[in-house]
Amino acid sequence: MSTTAAAQGQPVASLALDAPLTIALSKGRIFDQTLPLLAQAGIRPLEDPETSRKLILETSNPQVKLVIIRASDVPTYCEYGAADLGVAGKDVLLEHGGEGLYEPLDLRIACCRLMVAGPLLPPTPRSGRLRIATKYVKSAERYYAAKGQQVEIIKLYGSMELAPLVGLADLIVDLVESGNTLKANGLVPLEHIADISSRLVVNKAAWKMKHAAVSALLGVLRRAVAGRE
Ligand code: ATP
Ligand code: MG
Repeated sequence: MSTTAAAQGQPVASLALDAPLTIALSKGRIFDQTLPLLAQAGIRPLEDPETSRKLILETSNPQVKLVIIRASDVPTYCEYGAADLGVAGKDVLLEHGGEGLYEPLDLRIACCRLMVAGPLLPPTPRSGRLRIATKYVKSAERYYAAKGQQVEIIKLYGSMELAPLVGLADLIVDLVESGNTLKANGLVPLEHIADISSRLVVNKAAWKMKHAAVSALLGVLRRAVAGRE
């Protein structure tokens, strides 16, 4: 266990950065769970995204801005350099493909599992392929391809649990944390596809052009994550 101030959660002097950094975050659990890690670098947003309508938040470090976007847009902002860094779930990165990005650190936040789930009583086998409803089309395709099973994937944007209840699909591929949402809808987790957590991603050009600033921040975050173990 580290005995640094950062690891002990004590206030830390603001990180001196020689270049401005823009960090892309999504509202909700990723923002809430990234904040304590950024605080270890002395970076605190000057406004709360839940109450402010601003999408660009200044922070206590004049060199650091946060941009608040949809979780699934974080890799795109970072890929195109609209943000230098970002925090994205591995689920989102698996769908995006990770082009143009480095993924140097597992922040070990927003942990859950990508799973196949379905009704407690298995569906009466229909002729033809199983239908799988999911937001995670690429991950589902890869999973079933690796099993050598031919399935029909139906893309949805949310409320996947509904699909088996109304006969849209036989099974779903979705994120599972406690399993309570599945249970409330009469579904159970069936097969584990991947462990999911949020990753720090870095635009490849920023990694080169702003290397000192990026690696200074990365170092503090790495120690903050290690200090929690
Ligand atoms: P949007 O609401 O924009 O469609 P989203 O629903 O994916 O996006 P969140 O629910 O905030 O946004 O999820 C953000 C990330 O948090 C996900 O990409 C995933 O990595 C992780 N996550 C999602 N659901 C859970 C969960 N139940 N438990 C833990 N982590 C989760
Ligand atoms: Mg959600």
